[in-house]
Amino acid sequence: MSQKVVTRFAPSPTGYLHIGGARTALFNWLFARGRGGTFLLRIEDTDRARSTPDATQAILDGMEWMGLDHDGEVVSQFERAPRHAEVARQMLDAGLAYKCFATQEEIQEFRDAAKAEGRSTLYRSPWRDADAATHPDLPHVIRIKAPLDGATVIEDAVQGDVTIRNDQLDDMVLLRSDGTPVYMLAVAVDDHDMGVTHVIRGDDHLNNAARQMMIYRAMDWPLPVYAHIPLIHGPDGKKLSKRHGALGTREYRQMGYPAAGMRNYLARLGWSHGDAEFFSDAEAQKWFDLDGIGKSAARFDFKKLENICGQHMAASDDAALLHELKDFMAVTAQPPLSPEKEAMMLDAMPHLKERARTFIDLLDKAEFLLANRPIEPDEKAAAQLDDPARAMLRDLTPHLRDATWNRTGIEALMNDFAEARDIKFGKMAGPLRAALAGRSATPSVFDMMLVLGQAETLARLGDAGQSRN
Ligand code: GLU
Repeated sequence: MSQKVVTRFAPSPTGYLHIGGARTALFNWLFARGRGGTFLLRIEDTDRARSTPDATQAILDGMEWMGLDHDGEVVSQFERAPRHAEVARQMLDAGLAYKCFATQEEIQEFRDAAKAEGRSTLYRSPWRDADAATHPDLPHVIRIKAPLDGATVIEDAVQGDVTIRNDQLDDMVLLRSDGTPVYMLAVAVDDHDMGVTHVIRGDDHLNNAARQMMIYRAMDWPLPVYAHIPLIHGPDGKKLSKRHGALGTREYRQMGYPAAGMRNYLARLGWSHGDAEFFSDAEAQKWFDLDGIGKSAARFDFKKLENICGQHMAASDDAALLHELKDFMAVTAQPPLSPEKEAMMLDAMPHLKERARTFIDLLDKAEFLLANRPIEPDEKAAAQLDDPARAMLRDLTPHLRDATWNRTGIEALMNDFAEARDIKFGKMAGPLRAALAGRSATPSVFDMMLVLGQAETLARLGDAGQSRN
């Protein structure tokens, strides 16, 4: 295929960006980015009663956090209403659509009679073939002339061929009596005008594809490739809902998941490439294809998400991770880090990011680091700092001054120290935890020393070793 790939994400701004929407956006983004294509964003804000600017902003924020950058301006579907109406009129002029003057009551009567007679209740308008000379000067809608027989086959890249009998499709309304376009017309016209080559979206839109195709066919436009992806289910196999936990990307952001991990996990949710589980954006973009999308609903698995996120944190650049951490602290309304603490965090990042799966984990591991000297021990920790313990700390401190500051160096030194004095390392750990963190439950002593660095470690041990007055 030599044609340039154009995909789009087309959310309705009626709420936050939910996890299913984020995955749809991600698939479109991966597909376009991996092919040197274009990824467009269209806000489907035609439902004026339900669309809000706040929801639009929430979607834009969610996309930005997820790192899903789109090309060009955001398209507002509502603003394109005149163009949608123009297409309906073109179809009217070409005899592909017609004015229907039926009232709601007449349509209801038709349906009641059809039901009573056991016929299809799909409305068949008597105006379809009416002579224009017989048209009254009354409000009317514009309906498409749907094919009466045969079938519409959606050649779906995920679902395979999906056949819908045309006698099951009615002459849908294109323009309401107040001249406003219906959603189905808007989507088809926008996708065409935006040059969309691949429509990748949730399979709840599969039936809409048949109707949208009617418009494409009437206008003689080239069809896009359709790929309808199965919805996301909860761990219990039921449709993902609030009771399964977080639904919005904002919630995941506030739970401290890194965006790179979210992209990786969501890419794997319904798509696979061999047995690859952990991968970079570049790999995902290179590998992503429609063939790899599964036909059955994927199950959301928090354990897997955390595992993948942990791997991404460990693999992340330290400065980038600090930047993301600051974002996390801002969106969770935590006071910002001082420049001094920021520098400490950056130095400590290689140790902090090991085995952290979320930014909450990371901050938890860093809690002792962010505490200010002199460290105020809690009750349990204070009990560890009795006279012999403080004497031990005073004894140890000068040795640590000479240590090579890495795990092996510190470990060797501490072991020698313990051996020479015939004390178990376990006995030293309590006072060291108390001195370094002011608590008895902390990361490992070696981890803390590495994270704090030599100068801060010595200073904290020095503080704790001083005799109490
Ligand atoms: N606006 C629709 C939705 O949010 C998507 C329409 C489409 O992708 O064609 O579900």
